[in-house]
Amino acid sequence: MTNSLKILFISAEAAPFAKTGGLGDVAGSLPKALRALGHDVRVVMPAYLPIERGVEGVTPMPHTLRVPTGSGLIEAGVFQGRLPDSDVPVYFIAERNLFARPQTYGYGDDPYRFAFFSRAALALTLALAWRPDLVHAHDWHAAPAVTWLATAGQRHPAFQKMASVFTIHNLAHQGKTSWDIFDYLQLCTHSLREEGYGEVNFMARGIFHATLVNTVSPTYAREIMTSDGGAGLDGLLRHRQGDLFGILNGLDTAVWNPETDTRLAQTYGVGQMDGRAANRRALQEKAGLPLRDDIPLVAMISRLDWQKGMDITGHVVHLLMNGYAGEAQFIALGTGAAQYERMFAHLASQHPQKMTAFLAYNAGLAPLIYAGSDLFLMPSLFEPCGLGQMIAMRYGSVPVVRATGGLADTVQDGITGFTFHNYATEDFWQALQRAIYIFNVDKDSWRQIQGNGMIRDFSWRRSALGYQQLYEWAAARMSYEQ
Ligand code: ADP
Repeated sequence: MTNSLKILFISAEAAPFAKTGGLGDVAGSLPKALRALGHDVRVVMPAYLPIERGVEGVTPMPHTLRVPTGSGLIEAGVFQGRLPDSDVPVYFIAERNLFARPQTYGYGDDPYRFAFFSRAALALTLALAWRPDLVHAHDWHAAPAVTWLATAGQRHPAFQKMASVFTIHNLAHQGKTSWDIFDYLQLCTHSLREEGYGEVNFMARGIFHATLVNTVSPTYAREIMTSDGGAGLDGLLRHRQGDLFGILNGLDTAVWNPETDTRLAQTYGVGQMDGRAANRRALQEKAGLPLRDDIPLVAMISRLDWQKGMDITGHVVHLLMNGYAGEAQFIALGTGAAQYERMFAHLASQHPQKMTAFLAYNAGLAPLIYAGSDLFLMPSLFEPCGLGQMIAMRYGSVPVVRATGGLADTVQDGITGFTFHNYATEDFWQALQRAIYIFNVDKDSWRQIQGNGMIRDFSWRRSALGYQQLYEWAAARMSYEQ
């Protein structure tokens, strides 16, 4: 039996209070799964504008934090709420000048905003008289907490030997700033090889100072140790490779469940697949395509971004629509870079009887596409974890993916989907052709692959068990060090 741990999640976002990407999903879901394992998890995040304006269930606390900084003691208020459908507390650090702004990120003083937030998050534990066994910091915004704990914090009785886990969600955003930030944080440290003269790189700092480090899939953890995938930090990551882990994100299986999803034309499940046909028809009607069930319906739902493999997608859709793999339909849902929107619009205009491109963000349409399509394309150039392929599998749309990052860890070639390795049109096209061939001529195998994907365990509980193990290792390391 595992001991119950006290864990402080420090994150710039947590859904539903703030979400710009996967980080928000993780910080909004993982704590609940850890709570279900018996841990005392609490989340701290900044009080952005909506919180200051008032959100149901979020109330001010009596505490005033006096946060020590190089600019003197700065006061901050605290709001408290809970993650929906749970008893996981969420604390919001309120400092209007820094956080009550329309956007979550994108300001020139972001390094100071999040340095303050990180330091205030630690001060909060003193105000609450609640000493976490471990701090779980997410992405560069929370890295100052890790750095402070490993340096100045070691002289502070309340923080000595407090373990930290640092999770990399997106290595592309590193939080680079100038050395002055260490005066602000009141700590003394040496520079890292990854930092230029006078520069501080918070992502690098989190990786360097945390007790243990992880990212959101095992394959991505390996890829970021290479010069191709390391965004300049591969050397540092290799230096810490013994302490670097990969844990797949989960899926909110209460929301993404074809047996109960009210957004569908008809619900269905592994044992009763008939319902899929109704979704297919509803989707074809919505897309203005002929109601055919004898040809493969291929789909894609994605941000239209180079990371998502859009360059090789254009060629493959061109081949598909010109009949090189037999008859097929194609539906795309996505927004993003103008060049890729134009690409899909152009292809759709060439093949109006076979293809529709919805160039929008449409959360209501996405479930119908997952439920009504046969194949789901995700040829990403890189993919830390990826959610789309997991949803597709759960809904019985067989994924065709590039075997990178979390895609490599979730889709098994010929078992739950189809994969290719080289980032090249030919390889993508071959994988899609293989998939279409099986769809057309080997229905038994097709149903097997579909069913295998639908019963895979993508629950947050599975992720939480991985994190629990990591926390135990981190806490144990701190107790025998020094
Ligand atoms: P990323 O977070 O890098 O965009 P993921 O695969 O992890 O990629 O998550 C993407 C999520 O966003 C999926 O749930 C997908 O269904 C959804 N999504 C992406 N684009 C759209 C869109 N245009 N409309 C509706 N949902 C979308």
